[in-house]
Amino acid sequence: MTVIYDRVALIGLGLIAGSMAHAIREGGLAREIVGYARSAETRDTAREIGLCDRIADSAAEAVEGADLIVLAVPVGAMGAVAADIAPHLKPGATVTDVGSVKQSVIDAVAPHIPPGVHFVPGHPLAGTEHSGPRAGFASLFRNRWWLLTPLPDSDPDAVARLSDLVRAMGAKTDTMEPAHHDLVLAVTSHAPHLIAYTMVGVADHLRRVTDEEVIQYSAAGFRDFTRIAASDPTMWRDVFLHNKEATLDILGRFTEELFVLQRAIRMGDGQQLFDYFTRTRAIRRGII
Ligand code: NAD
Repeated sequence: MTVIYDRVALIGLGLIAGSMAHAIREGGLAREIVGYARSAETRDTAREIGLCDRIADSAAEAVEGADLIVLAVPVGAMGAVAADIAPHLKPGATVTDVGSVKQSVIDAVAPHIPPGVHFVPGHPLAGTEHSGPRAGFASLFRNRWWLLTPLPDSDPDAVARLSDLVRAMGAKTDTMEPAHHDLVLAVTSHAPHLIAYTMVGVADHLRRVTDEEVIQYSAAGFRDFTRIAASDPTMWRDVFLHNKEATLDILGRFTEELFVLQRAIRMGDGQQLFDYFTRTRAIRRGII
């Protein structure tokens, strides 16, 4: 049990902040965890389940005296929250975020960070399709990557201390350029979510002509493939609005590949399909 930060403030009390609260408490990594969420209902639920040591009634009150402030709200809300808390930040404190997109969050948050306060952006590559204050659990980050995208002038000690916290919660950490992060995540997370949402949309069309058979008799492929389409709509709306270029680039490439396979099916080109599936299966089997 090693205290890494005296007081941690979690802004936004959903899956990620909730999991952090559990993991920090389990590891004894902070003396006090203070939480705040915009909705009174979420704050009440957080109080009821004892998610944090204290739930504040404003973001300003939550960050007062905090050594680490975690912005765990949808990507589109990060800038407004940063502006709101800026005057109340303690000199020497570190602000981080857990947003799924990095460059736009940096552009929105960095201008509000006062001199003497450190900003170290980050992104845990861990999640489930569940959201809200009851969704979190301590082991969410175990053995998962937590990427940090420090700015050129980020204080190395602040980066190292945040890395210590991330590792103490069970995650592996690495640093990355923000724009590169956004491209990598467009391939590994953002585009797959959009395609899963789309597949459910297609099934919904068919439902009207097959009397709900598509949903009722969903084979494993559909279930496995579309699990992530149950994810939070606000979070994902914001991801696509804020990682526009990289997502459109990947979707363009995806569409081209789909047309290649579509043509192979139309032409009865079994060899092309077999070769494609053999190559991609080998890649997929390399992912544990
Ligand atoms: P969530 O929907 O479970 O929780 C979001 C919380 O933020 C809610 O408690 C909501 O009340 C609160 N909130 C919204 N706007 C707010 C505002 N303006 N001020 C204060 N609170 C506000 O979401 P989550 O899954 O925990 O995601 C939070 C962040 O983490 C997002 O930026 C998301 O991109 C990122 N993230 C999510 C996942 C995932 O798989 N869910 C994974 C990694 C990173």
